[in-house]
Formats: sequence, C-alpha cells, structure tokens
Amino acid sequence: MSVCAAGSWGVAELAGLRATGVEVADGVDPAYVTDFGGLREASPAAVARPRTVAEAATALAFAADAGLPLCARGLGRSAGGQSLAASGALTLDLSRLDAIAVSDDDPDALWCEPGATWTAVVATAARIGRVPLVAPNYLDLTVGGTIAAGGYGASSFRHGAIAAVVGELDVATPAGGRGRCGPLHDRDRFDAVRGTFGRHGLILGARVPLRAAREQLTSAVVLHDDVADAIEAQCRLGDREDVVLLEGFCTATPTGFRFAPGASGPTSCWRYGTRIGIDHDADAPPRLDALLGGLPAGRLVSVERGTTSGFLRRLVPYYELLEARGEMAGPRPRVDFLLPWDAVRELLPDLLEGLPPEMGTLHPLSPVDPARLAPLTDGPSGEGACELVVMTSTAVPADATRRCLDWIEEADRRLLAAGGVRYPVGWLGDEPEAALDRVVGRRAEAWETARSRHDPQGLLRSVALAG
Ligand SMILES: Cc1cc2nc3c(=O)[nH]c(=O)nc-3n(C[C@H](O)[C@H](O)[C@H](O)COP(=O)(O)OP(=O)(O)OC[C@H]3O[C@@H](n4cnc5c(N)ncnc54)[C@H](O)[C@@H]3O)c2cc1C
Repeated sequence: MSVCAAGSWGVAELAGLRATGVEVADGVDPAYVTDFGGLREASPAAVARPRTVAEAATALAFAADAGLPLCARGLGRSAGGQSLAASGALTLDLSRLDAIAVSDDDPDALWCEPGATWTAVVATAARIGRVPLVAPNYLDLTVGGTIAAGGYGASSFRHGAIAAVVGELDVATPAGGRGRCGPLHDRDRFDAVRGTFGRHGLILGARVPLRAAREQLTSAVVLHDDVADAIEAQCRLGDREDVVLLEGFCTATPTGFRFAPGASGPTSCWRYGTRIGIDHDADAPPRLDALLGGLPAGRLVSVERGTTSGFLRRLVPYYELLEARGEMAGPRPRVDFLLPWDAVRELLPDLLEGLPPEMGTLHPLSPVDPARLAPLTDGPSGEGACELVVMTSTAVPADATRRCLDWIEEADRRLLAAGGVRYPVGWLGDEPEAALDRVVGRRAEAWETARSRHDPQGLLRSVALAG
C-alpha cells in the first residue's frame, strides 16, 4: 500500500477550522490519547467535536482543501489504535451526532446519525415494536464506528455483517464531498466506506434495517465437550427458520494447577456453548426438547425467557459494573478472527490450551454468514464461517500483557495460515504498515482503488492502519 505525505495541523490551521464554526477543543483530553485496548497511545494535534453532521462534513472538506490528516472516532471501542489520530493529525469525534429518526413511511428502518449508539437504536426500535435486523452483542458502540468496522452480532449467522445490511448511507469523502449513496445509487462510495475503518470517507448517517419482534424470546444454552459437536449443533440450528438468534462461545472451567517440572499456573478444561434464541407469541413457547432432540448430545444448562430487546441489552449492565468497579482501566488485549469451521475444529482446542489465563475464560465463537460480509472485507476461505473473539473485559496486569500479545501473534500465524482472516477491531501489532496489509488480505487491490478514488491524498488514517 502506498504512503502519501500529509501535512500537520498547526495553530493557524486549527484557527482556520474554528473560523468555519466547528468546535475544536483547547488541549487534548487524555481520553482521546488511547482507546478501549489501552495498549497504544497517540496524542493528536487537536480534537474537533462537530455538533451537526454538516459541521463534520465541513471539517473534512477543510482538511481535504489544506491536505491535513484526520481520523474519525466514535467511542474509541476499537482496541488497537484504529480510532487514534497520530501526532500532527486531527481527531474528529463524531459521538455528538447521535440523532435517530423514525419514519412513518418506513417503519422497518431507522435513520441514524453516526454517533448514535446501538443502545439508543435498540430502545428506539423497541418503542415501535421492532429490533435491529443485526445489532452488535455489546450496544455501547456507535452506528458509524460499527459500520466502518463491519459489525457482527447474534443474528449474523443469518444476515451477516451490519455493514452488509445497511440500506443507505450519508457519506462524505475527501475527494467527492458529501452525498447519499446506497445499493442502487453511487454504489462505489457505498461499498468503499463499509468495513474499511474510516479510511475512504466518513459515514454521516445510515439507514439501519429493523424487523418486527414477537412478544417473547426464549433462549437456551447447550454445552458440548467437543468443538466438532458444537459446530454441528450450530450449523443445524442455523438452518432452522424459527431460530432468530444464534451465538456460540468457548468457556474454561478451572481444573487445578500445573506441577510438572518447568510448568506453573492453572489448568482448565474448555467446553463449547451454543445459545439459541427463538421469538414467539406469549402463549406459544417453543418445545425445546423437540428443537434440541436431533443434535449431538450436549447438556442444556440454561433456559431464559424475556424480550428480544432485553436480550440485545444483556451485556450493558455487565460493562457498567466493571466500569463502576474501576476494573476497566489498563491494557485489554483483544483479537477477532473470521474463521472457516475446519480451522476451528483443527486448531482452536490446542490454541486455547496455551491461552494465558489473564485473557479470560469466556470467548465468543459465533456463526456468521460468509456470503454477507462488507464488500471490501476479505472473507475466510473454507466451509462456513464464524467469528472468534478472544478478549479480556477487565484490564490485564502489566507483566502479563506481553504473554497475551505473544499468544495473539501465535494465533494469528496459525489461524491465518488455515484460511482465517482478521476482523480487525483488536490488536494489530506494532507496525501499522504491516497491519494494513494483514487487514486487506486478498482485497488489497480493491482497497487501493477505493483509496485512490475517495481519498487520494491519504488523509484519513489512524495509528493502527497507516499507509
Ligand atoms: C466490549 C466490546 C464489545 C464489542 N462487541 C462487538 C460486537 O458484538 N460486534 C462487533 O462487530 N464489534 C464489537 N466490538 C468492536 C466494535 O465494533 C468496534 O470497536 C467498532 O469500532 C465500534 O466502536 P466505536 O463505535 O467506538 O468505533 P471506534 O472504535 O471509535 O472507530 C472504529 C473505526 O471506525 C472509524 N470510524 C468511526 N466512526 C466512523 C464514521 N462515522 N465514519 C467512518 N469511520 C468511522 C474509526 O476511525 C476507526 O477506524 C466490541 C468492542 C468492545 C470494546
């Protein structure tokens, strides 16, 4: 990938931007120096916080005219510097642009500004008896940041990435100004900004598709000892029309402590879980025995009933508690892969065996429809696909961080060789040039073409994905 020279923001340029009416903070709040991962730090020249979508477009146009670098930021939930502007560049914080519009003409979609969170999207949709067609598992993410990343959740087994289902976008690019684009209109821009981490343009609005939600959701969790059994269960359940949500996970049960010469630390036994969700009328709950009957024998460990919106909010109280306890500050290594099932069967148990205990004991491993990814996302090669997320929720002690990053490197090497690709929201290594090559994979030419059309000066960049 080519590296374009870009200038840097100085006092005069920032004054020029302020003169257009865009709010530029005095000094840089420390919150903008790092992200959710807490592993990288970078201090931007300044932080602009537009109050309107028009102001955000103005800031981009100003930067494009002056040849100055900038980086969009939602809530900075990515974990490897993807939303961090390098020194001399401007951070464009889009989180204030959080309006959501309900349309009487189109109740099956919401128009969302980029900083709207999924928490607000789910709440707004619930008021009209609907849920997003695909929502991420954790809702405290922005709509713009999630579409820019790709976005996967518990209905991705059927509908794929959030970036693949959005109906229309409002996009501003350094080369082309601002306008609406979609599957039938300005398709090139529409494709260029989905799943490409803000490198080709800003997403300033999105039509987020909804579906009608039935009165209740019944969720059941089945545990398997063998990963192959869990995969078979997930594939069979994913084919059923009544299953509306499907997620998997791997979970470790502590079994003791190592004592062999040279060995130390805890031992654990990994199991593989599958959670299904079926929505139904209150008086017609699903028959779980019939549903689970033909699957590889596993243990039914929990059954819960509530609403689909309630299910989608399930992680929010957990993270609020961690935040309140102060357990989130510090490094949180994270890695995400899109994997063919063969790679999971062959490599995952062995990789988990060596996972540092500080990385945690519960990791999502959920099916994703590989035919419905963002257009420029390099998909896994092989049968089926799932998203594996290995992340710690709480901060890792400083002395364990290197061990965790080494495990990520090892997993990267083995899983990518087996047909996997990165979902690059986590740690991407210390070398931004190499990271970009790793992210674009077989789509390198298409990324390069999109970049040269929409951001030929290479202004939109982060410390994670330079070049
Ligand atoms: C606890 C936790 C749980 C998560 N769960 C999920 C999950 O279930 N599913 C999932 O897909 N992801 C998940 N993620 C990852 C998350 O999707 C990514 O971090 C994503 O980046 C959204 O976060 P954000 O809105 O804070 O965006 P940021 O991290 O701020 O930005 C992400 C990237 O998009 C760019 N960007 C941001 N806004 C825009 C915009 N409007 N236009 C163009 N580019 C933009 C940024 O420059 C950056 O490269 C999770 C993250 C955390 C911390």
